[in-house]
Amino acid sequence: MIKKILSLLGVTLLAAGAVFAWNVARLPTVAAHSAPIEAVAPLAADPAVLAAAVRIPTVSYDDADVIDHGPFDRWMAFVQEAFPRTHQRLKWEIINEYSFLYTWSGQSVDATPILFTAHYDVVPVDDNGEWHHPPFSGQLADGYVWGRGSMDDKAAVISILSATEKLLEEGFVPHRTLVFAFGHDEEIGGRSGAAKLAAQLEARNIRPEWMLDEGMVITDGVISVIDQPIALIGVAEKGYLTLELYVEGEGGHTSSPPHHTAAGVLSAAVARLENSPMSARLDGAAAAMFDRLTPAMPVVPKALFANRWLFEPLLIKQLEGKTSTNAMIRTTAAVTQLKGSNKENVLPRLASATVNFRLLPGDSVDDVIRYVKAAVADPQVKVRVIGEATEASKVSDVSGKGFASIESAVNSVYPEVLTAPALLIATTDSKHYAPLTSNIYRFRPLWVTPADVPRFHGVNERLAVENYQRMVTFFYQLMRKVE
Ligand SMILES: [Zn+2]
Repeated sequence: MIKKILSLLGVTLLAAGAVFAWNVARLPTVAAHSAPIEAVAPLAADPAVLAAAVRIPTVSYDDADVIDHGPFDRWMAFVQEAFPRTHQRLKWEIINEYSFLYTWSGQSVDATPILFTAHYDVVPVDDNGEWHHPPFSGQLADGYVWGRGSMDDKAAVISILSATEKLLEEGFVPHRTLVFAFGHDEEIGGRSGAAKLAAQLEARNIRPEWMLDEGMVITDGVISVIDQPIALIGVAEKGYLTLELYVEGEGGHTSSPPHHTAAGVLSAAVARLENSPMSARLDGAAAAMFDRLTPAMPVVPKALFANRWLFEPLLIKQLEGKTSTNAMIRTTAAVTQLKGSNKENVLPRLASATVNFRLLPGDSVDDVIRYVKAAVADPQVKVRVIGEATEASKVSDVSGKGFASIESAVNSVYPEVLTAPALLIATTDSKHYAPLTSNIYRFRPLWVTPADVPRFHGVNERLAVENYQRMVTFFYQLMRKVE
């Protein structure tokens, strides 16, 4: 019997070895682009237009009463003046006072439209003198447009409008109808902007074939095992959920306390929760990313990723080791706020912990609540949802026309970069449009090195003029490639 098992095992190992070798051998040594590249030179788009956009401080604040709407009014005058053809020839509407909806009718009246979304509000600025140029000065210096919004996300609004202006000048008519929806409050959740824009589209029964929003970027040196820059196209987005765990206590004086106070019971529950994270898995958008990038990896990771069927547990162990990759393979939990009694010698009548979850596509809000209750395993600890929860998105089609058009536009403007689908671990306005289309792509052709990452929502936000011009060219190419 043992001999039989051993010989069976031998056959299995032999077969496994053959599959392993075949999987490595069949991979090209460099990551091939999926279609031949037709490189184009960047258009000479004028960076002064983006600089002027940055100078209008359209700042969103969580406290709506603090928002100054003057700049939002100025924005309306600014875009009409900067993009005269667009505002003459496209149908454009103001939705809910400050958001913009443009419709550029295509040649094919029956074809479903394509939707480009972006936002022109920005986050507030902490200016402690660290900015090399004042954040709303829109300076053009050292080859950059400096200031808040130059990357996130005015660059996209201005690039889309600049590309449109140029195409109109050339007499171009898109194949499908193109719809642009520019929100004015993405940075505070998009309920007045994107949600209202999406509701308008829904009311008119406009269901885009696919849509492109902000999200991921071209990373240069951010993914350590690959030397080449990579354009990561977000094909899925994690969900969002905040739970409060709370324990009710008797209160009273601390001179004769119980063995476990409400705060103690809660702390033990929080520790159990942190020590038993939700299970990790390599599937969906993250798996699609690694599959696409495997050919460009050095030999060892390449051999491992090419044989995911064999090495998945090992790979998951590796990916769990770094917070950035851990977030790609599981629903994460972050304990953020703890509350007990408000006096040192008073027992808490209520102890509470706030935990923020980011849901991996495939895990629902209900799944997470069930998991939390099981991990805490204490009926004294109650769980309730705080605020609005958002389910994780579906995974958009990686082999459809939308992805192919975006990829082709990236390749023509950035022939030196790889492209790959990816999972966005943050959230965007695109969630508001999810009922309208199942193919949502999240990407901006912003060239981002590790040193640039803190500029998003941080100090010294800036965009290289050359990057801006390639961004305009990307949208110009994309609008021409839409089939
Ligand atoms: Zn943004």
